[in-house]
Amino acid sequence: KAKEQRQGAFVVYDSSMQQPLDERVMIEKYLRTAIANNELYLNYQPIIDLESGNVWGFEALIRWNNPVLGFVSPLSFIQIAEDCRLILPIGEWVLITACHFMKYMHRQGFENYHISVNISVVQLMHEGFTDMVLDVLEETGLDPSFLEIEVTESVVMDSFEATVAKLEFLKTKGIQIALDDFGTGYSSLSYLKQLPIHTLKIDKSFVDGIIDTLDHLSLVDSIVSIGHDLGMKVTAEGVETGDQVAFLQNCKCDKIQGYYFNAPMAEEKVLTWLSEWNEHSRNKLCKHNP
Ligand code: C2E
Ligand code: MG
Ligand code: MG
Ligand code: MG
Repeated sequence: KAKEQRQGAFVVYDSSMQQPLDERVMIEKYLRTAIANNELYLNYQPIIDLESGNVWGFEALIRWNNPVLGFVSPLSFIQIAEDCRLILPIGEWVLITACHFMKYMHRQGFENYHISVNISVVQLMHEGFTDMVLDVLEETGLDPSFLEIEVTESVVMDSFEATVAKLEFLKTKGIQIALDDFGTGYSSLSYLKQLPIHTLKIDKSFVDGIIDTLDHLSLVDSIVSIGHDLGMKVTAEGVETGDQVAFLQNCKCDKIQGYYFNAPMAEEKVLTWLSEWNEHSRNKLCKHNP
């Protein structure tokens, strides 16, 4: 079945399927020159503050268009980039590009928006990581309070104390930290409590379940409560329907992100999207208010 889908685009493999070796080798080969050949770019997905309806900011999501391989999903190449450590230059490129873009937005008068950037475990473990982040902020001139970095539970659990120290340090500089894909890992509540985390991002798999299963429904509600009890904000990812929005509003989730508002979009579309949001699309949210 995977073979049928292979014309043109690469198939996304979940962890139960092995990505064929030749495909991994090809991806690694072309990834080596992807930055130099300008094949990488970022898309931006809006994150909405649920209470005010204001746009809080955007998550930067990497895209790769290679002349031979076509579009390759980050789900197919991030792991490979981590394995061969290419994620270090790629991750730095992402951070620079995203911070530049947000600084540009601020200069255009869109002053209160944040940028959220995914950080891989390999980056976080790298000794130069915190210096790199501070350098990028200085070079781009972006105020640290407008940068959020997203790490996953596995990142944090891999070497707990060293990681927490780095995140604490970045926090003292004013950078916000989000725990991505929350609920899919194994971190216990006692660990969670020790993390310098501002925001929990509830994984899409729980948000998907909101309508069809009572189980997931109460889980989302519980995650929001736990986050708030720990003094954190909570963001729901992968929100696709108005019913999900209504439910999330009811359980006082702080922010939402998903196709319901917009899929990740090209840089050129962001300003237009923003002005449209401020004028009309906001009704998408308001109509759910009691
Ligand atoms: P993530 O950080 O959890 O990002 C959210 C993913 O969900 C994105 O997939 C986004 O396009 C998708 N998404 C958002 N809303 C919806 C929705 O309503 N429905 C559905 N079906 N999907 C939605 P994307 O862009 O393919 O990225 C996949 C993963 O790749 C990301 O998951 C992240 O873990 C990783 N990734 C992406 N960009 C970067 C990057 O610059 N650096 C690193 N280290 N990882 C990245
Ligand atoms: Mg993310
Ligand atoms: Mg992620
Ligand atoms: Mg996620």
